[in-house]
Amino acid sequence: MTTDTHLREQICMLAKSMFDRGLTGGSTGNISARTSDGGLLVSPTGISFGRLDPARLSHFDATGTLIDGDAPTKEMPLHSAFYDTRSSAGAVVHLHSCHAVALSMMPDLDADNFLPPLTPYAIMKLGKVALLPFFRPGDPMMGAAVRGLAGKRSAVMLANHGPVVAGKDVEAACNAIEELEDTARLACLMRGVNARMLNPAQITDIVTHFDVEWD
Ligand code: ZN
Repeated sequence: MTTDTHLREQICMLAKSMFDRGLTGGSTGNISARTSDGGLLVSPTGISFGRLDPARLSHFDATGTLIDGDAPTKEMPLHSAFYDTRSSAGAVVHLHSCHAVALSMMPDLDADNFLPPLTPYAIMKLGKVALLPFFRPGDPMMGAAVRGLAGKRSAVMLANHGPVVAGKDVEAACNAIEELEDTARLACLMRGVNARMLNPAQITDIVTHFDVEWD
């Protein structure tokens, strides 16, 4: 381990933190981040988020060739789809987080804007979250569905599976996906109670004030 030591340690520390708080169990979840030379560090396939080894992360060079580390996650096409369509993406994270998955199975969801407007932070950190249909794990159509959004969404929800979020760096991506899970949890708690949500004027004010991508 000679390069990107800090980034490698940060990826493993943030993944373990999410695992320890029950945000993705078993060997689920995957995470990737751009290196300073245009390459990528990616969590290996089949390894728990609680036990990632900084020295064994899959390391791709700027041409997309695996140059060291273990074999990458099977969900690599999902990560590539974000990097290829969003130049601002410096990291991508995917979890199997309970409340987001539960919410994805509810009736009457807006596929263009999956999360109800409950708190300002979800709007600020995620913009509109697209709900994508169910795909068999590893299906290349998952990546194609993300590419179909043409870079307009930094966060998507794979129905009956889990969220995927891109951020400018690994910390931003992890903070945003935690906001997605927290908001989905609130949405499940508030389901059916006629909750007082943010109104359109409040949403517009947040979007304008914080310069949120909201097309
Ligand atoms: Zn998954």
